[in-house]
Amino acid sequence: MATLSDVKHLIIDMDGVLYRGDEPMPRLGDFFAFLRERPIPFRLATNNSMSTPQQYVKKLERIGVEVSPEEILTSGQATARALAREHPAGTRAHVFGSPALREAVEAEGFTLADEDAAVVVASMDPDVTYEKLTRATLLIRGGAQFVATNLDPTRPTHEGLVPGTGALIAALETASGIKPRAIGKPEPTMFELAMREMGAGPETTATIGDRLDTDMLGGRRAGLTTVCVLSGSSGRAEAEAFGPDYIFEDIAGLLEAWQKSLDGREG
Ligand SMILES: [Mg+2]
Repeated sequence: MATLSDVKHLIIDMDGVLYRGDEPMPRLGDFFAFLRERPIPFRLATNNSMSTPQQYVKKLERIGVEVSPEEILTSGQATARALAREHPAGTRAHVFGSPALREAVEAEGFTLADEDAAVVVASMDPDVTYEKLTRATLLIRGGAQFVATNLDPTRPTHEGLVPGTGALIAALETASGIKPRAIGKPEPTMFELAMREMGAGPETTATIGDRLDTDMLGGRRAGLTTVCVLSGSSGRAEAEAFGPDYIFEDIAGLLEAWQKSLDGREG
């Protein structure tokens, strides 16, 4: 674990950390100004595979934060990049998921296919149909590698928790009898990819997140310093029971402690 003043790179979750819905967290602009000034390179990493990096850039722009598409890493991109390291360009891949996921898989050199696919990349599909479940099941049963962007069972909406990626993956798993390989949090793969892209090592990289079972567990598995903020889905008692390296109310609290730790060292 690194003390805050030794942290050189960040892997940051977005929902529940930088914003909730369309509401920016307190001192969001100051937080990014601090990262740019140090500078602390970062990746904004999300298990959500339904939006493209460009869509996240626009969302952040609306709440006053300027980032580049290269600074965003979705689970769909992480999955496509991890698979591209193992398969030659042009490998046929079937996508069970959103248009954003199709775009991510195609961007890494795969040929999208509904037949004779070597890989099935599966994720959340808000337009899921029985026919789509059938197609993916037949390909997996036929021997295609079964890879899931992540296994989050639910996703939060204003109505409550609704079926997430993991719920759809479970249907494919039940029908095919095959367990998928998962890439997103809490697997270390996405964290390792983000670090490789930044030229970072685990001993000086911290991850900031609001979920214990994905952000904090994944960060711990990847050997990072773990920073939990209580502005999203975790309460203080459960966070303390899990025991991340740092717990703050929100990024404003983190920023204050980080600046203090630097003042102590540089002042
Ligand atoms: Mg979150």
